[in-house]
Amino acid sequence: MRRTRRALATVGGLVLLATVAAPAVAQPSGERGLYEAHAADAEQRTELVRAGVDVLGVRDGTVTMIATAGQARDLRADGFDLDRIGDVDRMLAERGTGTRAAADEFPPGDEDYHTYSELTDELQRTEADHGDIARLSSVGESYEGRSLHLIKISDNAARDEDEPEVLFTCNQHAREHLTTEMCLRIVQRFTDDYGSDPTVTELVDTREILVIPTVNPDGAEYDISGGSYHGWRKNRQGSGTDLNRNWGYQWGCCGGSSGWPYSDTYRGSSPFSAPETRAVADFVDSRVVDGTQQITAHLDFHSYSELVLWPYGYTYDDTAEGMTRAEADRFRDVGERMAASNGYTPQQSSDLYITDGSVNDWMWGEHKIFSFTFEMYPASAGGLDGFYPPDERIGPETRRNDEAVDILLREAGRGAAA
Ligand SMILES: [Zn+2]
Repeated sequence: MRRTRRALATVGGLVLLATVAAPAVAQPSGERGLYEAHAADAEQRTELVRAGVDVLGVRDGTVTMIATAGQARDLRADGFDLDRIGDVDRMLAERGTGTRAAADEFPPGDEDYHTYSELTDELQRTEADHGDIARLSSVGESYEGRSLHLIKISDNAARDEDEPEVLFTCNQHAREHLTTEMCLRIVQRFTDDYGSDPTVTELVDTREILVIPTVNPDGAEYDISGGSYHGWRKNRQGSGTDLNRNWGYQWGCCGGSSGWPYSDTYRGSSPFSAPETRAVADFVDSRVVDGTQQITAHLDFHSYSELVLWPYGYTYDDTAEGMTRAEADRFRDVGERMAASNGYTPQQSSDLYITDGSVNDWMWGEHKIFSFTFEMYPASAGGLDGFYPPDERIGPETRRNDEAVDILLREAGRGAAA
């Protein structure tokens, strides 16, 4: 048995041991440590990813990750200089002390974050208050049967008008709760400010804004269950699939995901094996009308590191099949303009490390949808805390992206490929 197979990079593994039937692959065991390593270039960072560790954030060449003692030992043997900076389970336990208001509520002090049921109520209220410009539906169901909400915001929302469609998706990764609030910010701003804010009014009148506030409601609910955070990333199908490695373009091609079900970057058993990615992809496929994809731009929110990322993730090359020089230049140009507005760092996704099966690669590679990822606040953190900023940060960190959202909505009017 390879040592890296015996190890676990997944928070919540102890729960998995109790609830998942014995698989054919080695189960995780051992303590999980929080580590930092210097990895100056993307090739070095990709080596870390390939070892199966859970990369939490990257800043200025410093990678923060969760690894077991075994993984850390292997990486040190490979020449990486790893600093152990904390104990994962202790950090999570410390976040969860106190008395909860309700069984499924966020831990004390973070109650302004929306649980799934609060999110559902908010979306239903939005439709009730703004029925002419907001229409709530669903693209399908999660593995555990939760509705994957879709809200459309446009003038004459009930009709399919000939206007560029722009899709915003959030919370593919369970623990990235700030992103759900980001999608809600978009929903609230483009409904509440319609008729009073000229930019909002113009964009609602000339675009069809599509928002899926949580792609991974099962994982998000699990992450806050029992009164403390679990640092959970994947969906809740078996031992969990990393939804942002499960998309069907160059799936599993290039060492940018894991085939081991207990890895935090497990790509799933086949492309779109997760019901959540399948449902969103089916919806996007359904927006091809008379041979033309109606969605021209897409933005997927993650946390954390404060980055603006664009495809491709599966290759270090700027240009590749389906990505001309002019198209790559347009990604860079718009990415840099959005980053100038919010202070994030702009780069091609693979400048960070190789990922395969990501949503951006599929949106562009399959549909020529101009697709970006934002990694939100904070820029860096001492590990898991980066996923759980206090709820006082929700307002400033979501408003921070208003202008970038507007830039992308305007850009969508230019159509798909450059
Ligand atoms: Zn993420």
